Amino acid sequence: MADLQSVLDDVAREAIEATDRGAVANYIPELAKVDPGRFGIAVALPDGQVHCAGDAQMAFSIQSVSKVFTLTMALGKHGDNMWSRVGREPSGNPFNSIVQLEQEQGRPRNPFINAGAIAVADLILSGHQPREAIGEILRFIRDLADDGSITIDERVARSETAHGDRNASLAHFMKSFGCIDHPVDHVLGVYFHQCAIAMSCRQLARAGLYLAGEGRDPASGAQVITSQRARRINAIMLMCGHYDGSGEFAYRVGLPGKSGVGGGILAIAPGKASIAAWSPGLDAAGNSKLGSTALEHLTRRMGWSVFGS
Ligand code: GLN
Repeated sequence: MADLQSVLDDVAREAIEATDRGAVANYIPELAKVDPGRFGIAVALPDGQVHCAGDAQMAFSIQSVSKVFTLTMALGKHGDNMWSRVGREPSGNPFNSIVQLEQEQGRPRNPFINAGAIAVADLILSGHQPREAIGEILRFIRDLADDGSITIDERVARSETAHGDRNASLAHFMKSFGCIDHPVDHVLGVYFHQCAIAMSCRQLARAGLYLAGEGRDPASGAQVITSQRARRINAIMLMCGHYDGSGEFAYRVGLPGKSGVGGGILAIAPGKASIAAWSPGLDAAGNSKLGSTALEHLTRRMGWSVFGS
């Protein structure tokens, strides 16, 4: 097997030199300020060691990568009952699409498109004030990453709130079908703040390790979720984690992965590694352009695709 650190150094060098870097998200003005020249990658191994290259220690807005953690929390809180609120099928549509919601009576296709993640935020909110739910999400992620310094970037949360008409539409539309229990502004408050959590590749790779370890954080020994649930979350990441680019990601990378419009991707090589890549420029489907390429090269050279080496 290739030497992991030298592979990471190679993919980081390629990414830093790349000229076609995609376009930074600008519909959330605060995200548009991020330097498109950045690139970072980190790999956390089952023994807790983390290998890094590029800007792996620099915090970025995790955006929709947070949906993996809130799905894990909602499953812990509501068990399989949560599937009455949200499906498990790929949508084949952009992340912020509304078209299927009308035909499917306000039940989003999966927990990773915006509508689905808003439904999950509503589930996490039950029994809580928004501030408590946000605190619970942040605490969960800090515990997973074993790093109490992780915070929410309030400027990003405010920026998205000020430009959140599309997400507000999705939430109101679902509520009109009776699929949202709490006031829409509370649900969106939770959703926008989870998206505004700032983490580095190093922290994110560490936080995802339980999904590579059958639900158990191999470094701390904590059983975060059952092995069956970890397997199922990985399945949903593979099928739905990159929206209408999920097929392409499976084809090129061959790992469960979840992207965010901040340019981050969390990818899981079950039993082998948790990987975080970050480059702010996005492709047409809203997935990190160089992040996907870096993961493609990394998995090919390490033989980590779930479909065989
Ligand atoms: N906060 C973003 C939004 O709701 C998340 C989207 C994403 O990362 N794909 O639009």
